[in-house]
Amino acid sequence: MADLIEIPPADGLRIALAYATAGNLTGRPVYAPGARCALRPAAADCLLRAARAARRAGLGLLVYDAYRPAAAQAVFWRMLPDPRYVADAAQGSNHTRGVAVDVGLLDAGGAPLDMGTDFDDMRDQSHHDRDDLPPAVQRNRHLLLGIMLQAGFRSIPTEWWHYELPDAREYALLPESGMVRVVSD
Ligand SMILES: [Zn+2]
Repeated sequence: MADLIEIPPADGLRIALAYATAGNLTGRPVYAPGARCALRPAAADCLLRAARAARRAGLGLLVYDAYRPAAAQAVFWRMLPDPRYVADAAQGSNHTRGVAVDVGLLDAGGAPLDMGTDFDDMRDQSHHDRDDLPPAVQRNRHLLLGIMLQAGFRSIPTEWWHYELPDAREYALLPESGMVRVVSD
């Protein structure tokens, strides 16, 4: 079985890889044009299950990132060497294992639901279990949490958008894949 498979956009599943645009913490594209949403088959199954659950609720899933090459992880670690938000490139990220996704929710009209912060906002407001966010934001985050947990993912405390397989560490870091190439410095 292939290490990574591509997840194409589908009804209720929008792919908008943030690191393929300048709209990320580095302020420039990190992925070369043509980057695709790729995951290991077990994580892809969970993502598709989550997209179906979102659709049943009249919503959609928005994918900000999935498989991430180690070279991209190294770029982020140089910029933000804080292990609460960025996995040390030397240890590797569960994104590089191909079993983590960064996601948000879309309403029926395709507009992102308000999660209180943007994706990749590395502040305490991005943590789960905040008591200083408005009720609508709390509801939206819990909707996403419920959809992703029932699909088989687990959450992490510091990022509302990050979900990964519960046994993520059992998977090896993956070598570079042609599906996601990193822009060279
Ligand atoms: Zn993530």
